[in-house]
Amino acid sequence: MLPAAKSVLRTLPGLCLSLALCFCSSAAFSQDSSAAAPRADSKAANNAEFLAAADEVLRQMSEITGLKLLTPLKKSLRSREEIRAYVIKQMNAEKNPAERYADARTGEAFGLLPKGFDLDTFMVNVLTEQIEGLYDPKNQEFYIADWSAPDEQRMVMAHELTHALEDQHFHIEAWSRAARPNDDAELARDAVLEGSAMAAMVDYLMAGTGRSLKDLPEFDPSMLFDQLDMQNTPALKSAPPFLKDSLIFPYISGLNFSAAVLKNSGWPALSGVFERPPVSTQQILHPAFYKSGKTPASVLLPPLDKALGKDWAKLDENVLGEFGWKEVLKQFLDNDRAKSLAAAWDGDRYATYEQKETKKLILVTRLRLDSEEHAARFFGQYSEALEKKHAQRSNLLRRPNFFQFDTPDGGVFLYCAGGSCVTMEGGTRKLFDAFTKALDWPSAPPPPEHPAAAPEKTAALFFPAAQAAP
Ligand SMILES: [Zn+2]
Repeated sequence: MLPAAKSVLRTLPGLCLSLALCFCSSAAFSQDSSAAAPRADSKAANNAEFLAAADEVLRQMSEITGLKLLTPLKKSLRSREEIRAYVIKQMNAEKNPAERYADARTGEAFGLLPKGFDLDTFMVNVLTEQIEGLYDPKNQEFYIADWSAPDEQRMVMAHELTHALEDQHFHIEAWSRAARPNDDAELARDAVLEGSAMAAMVDYLMAGTGRSLKDLPEFDPSMLFDQLDMQNTPALKSAPPFLKDSLIFPYISGLNFSAAVLKNSGWPALSGVFERPPVSTQQILHPAFYKSGKTPASVLLPPLDKALGKDWAKLDENVLGEFGWKEVLKQFLDNDRAKSLAAAWDGDRYATYEQKETKKLILVTRLRLDSEEHAARFFGQYSEALEKKHAQRSNLLRRPNFFQFDTPDGGVFLYCAGGSCVTMEGGTRKLFDAFTKALDWPSAPPPPEHPAAAPEKTAALFFPAAQAAP
């Protein structure tokens, strides 16, 4: 998928967000959680108690998941400062400043992040706020936050120790990274890791009730999420919707995916998912596509470096995926339309370029839809989205499968042919023509006779009444 949140999520595969915990401890599971109720006698759990509890939960998680502990596990209590330092260290180790800058600018180009958004600071704050515990696959060590309430500690443990057990059997960091450089596929693997740890945590909470996740036919994680109380998480509450959704996706959609995969044969099915990982966020969002083996088309973009010249540099190129497109569409269309339109996704690729001096951006995308009919629907709705995204428009040219207009930041183009659509924002018509030519597409409909027509003239065309006044 996209940039931003992912780059940090990627960093912390073993991280547990307390929001994930809140919803499991909320109404839906309050009865079941008594079965595994922790001792509430001491608020400041000391180290010996912590170690004993961790060992006990580890044994239970091994029993639930069927994954044996292969080597002893390192575990420790950490202060907020130590966890913050860990988050920063991981962020720096994961991507260098130039790569993180490219992520933020790509988010901006898609309209997912506000201009100039300080992504680094935001992510450190939100993660420090949210972390209750984490599993560090680099050092194979389990940490728990020393501020975590004793009744939450065991739930955190259930989640994080699942990561630890999975790591011993499947080497989760290398497994997750094997999807690179496809961001969409890597996010799908994150959703497997977080979703399975959530599923194991649900089973842990239900221990003693004689039931488990696979016995809950009506299980809908998004319903639980609606009950989530974000009052205690100010940084997340103020987050751009895309970041919030990206942070939550691996937990909620991943849990839904895990529930579907474990439905029939339970935890023995887990190793099959590590052997045959989902290839896209689409397979996470629609587990039936994972089961049927529906894979997206591989989509390529021609390089534009030559056509752009030396003043421009490519910042980023990757796959956005169904999840990413849903987020983009959601910024400008309502949630239901965004969801249904994104579900027609069948592959994509995007690239962002930046003019070195002016920092102007060009965003190019190529999208495959699952039918010509859906491509036509995408054309209509994405035309609308682009108009909402760019408030100042002039020289509009609208044809059945082609739409272009000018903005103060450059030209905007949308062109669909067969089951595919391409877009360019921030470029010139000449560059767009070079792009479609490189794709072997027929030329887009020509602009009007006088392409340099002044904005007043366009205004006259669309608002003749206004023109009547001298
Ligand atoms: Zn986790």
